[in-house]
Amino acid sequence: MAHTLAIIGFGGMGSWHCENIQNRVPDIHVKGVYDIRPEACQKAAEKGLFVYDSVEAILADPEVDLVTIATPNNFHKPLAIQCLIGGKNVICEKPVTLNAAELREIIAARDESGKLFSIHQNRRWDKDYNIIKTILQDGTIGKPYFIESRVQGSRGAMHGWRGHKVNGGGMVLDWGVHLIDQIMNMIPEKVVSVYANLFTIFSDEVDDNIKIMLRFESGVSALLEMSTNCFVNLPRWHVSCENGTAVVEDWSCKGRMVQLNTDAEMAWDEEIVYTEAGPTRTMAPRPAHTLKELPLPEVQVDWSDYYKNIVAVLDGKAELIVKPEQALRVMKVIDTIFESDKTGKGIACSI
Ligand code: NAD
Repeated sequence: MAHTLAIIGFGGMGSWHCENIQNRVPDIHVKGVYDIRPEACQKAAEKGLFVYDSVEAILADPEVDLVTIATPNNFHKPLAIQCLIGGKNVICEKPVTLNAAELREIIAARDESGKLFSIHQNRRWDKDYNIIKTILQDGTIGKPYFIESRVQGSRGAMHGWRGHKVNGGGMVLDWGVHLIDQIMNMIPEKVVSVYANLFTIFSDEVDDNIKIMLRFESGVSALLEMSTNCFVNLPRWHVSCENGTAVVEDWSCKGRMVQLNTDAEMAWDEEIVYTEAGPTRTMAPRPAHTLKELPLPEVQVDWSDYYKNIVAVLDGKAELIVKPEQALRVMKVIDTIFESDKTGKGIACSI
């Protein structure tokens, strides 16, 4: 069945939703847009979209069954509740809200309305993420114990409204929510402790360079780093498993996987080894025949699969992939991140 969508907030991401759907999701028709900025409305009209003059006008349009909210973060909660109670299915950009309490209010509105509510966590369809997820699922290099996930830039301050607290700015709520959502979907366990160090290098209001440590129930841990002040990048992913190491360098998804060759004998020399690191056995280079270099797995992913899942759910043919209940766990971790940074302590939890 075809569905008709209206977009609230037609800036960078609102325009992207429109183009992505028009080019790749045939079962959704993008009818129109509501934005508070005349320039954004003008841009929408030039693209042949209907321009609504209020949220109420969208709610009163019986053709529209789906609304995507792509405004600055602080407007997500009131708009999502208004649209759900107004009878529309709702997709909300990330971060779904500014904290877990706000999301609980949306979930209550969803339950009251019986409508669909989902969050555009599109980075679950990123290629780099799915390469690492596949390696862990296949067990190619054994069980993971430490996962490093980083995005690093060097352009300084958070841009525009992202630099203001009132708008829900800051790196935790910008990229942080993506990397936390990814890792919590990769490791299906409870988060049992959180430590965060949130730096404000360029801003008096919001965090802009952040380091987060999450520990899961089995002990597997993750370091999530996001920087706007990094001039020599580390890999996007560096994953330590019991039988090897996997690295994805960057968005191009080049990388390496080295597996321990468990068939190969390695006799440990009782003698100390003299290396460039000095006299050491532990840090001496490993004989090459004890290791195997493997290609990274091939994965096929497409961001438009997010919307294809929404269509399938609305048509009663699939289960929702990005569920509000998952986002609630992410928001609880985010609340704990802010608490950890404020207190300067690791926080034990069960999320
Ligand atoms: P933006 O500033 O480019 O666009 C926001 C638009 O919302 C503007 O056109 C603004 O006029 C409009 N707006 C503001 N308040 C409004 C209101 N109350 N009602 C209607 N319109 C309103 O911002 P952006 O980069 O497009 O970000 C929008 C949202 O998308 C944010 O929540 C952001 O976190 C998210 N985002 C997600 C991704 C992703 O990969 N999933 C990427 C970028 C942005």
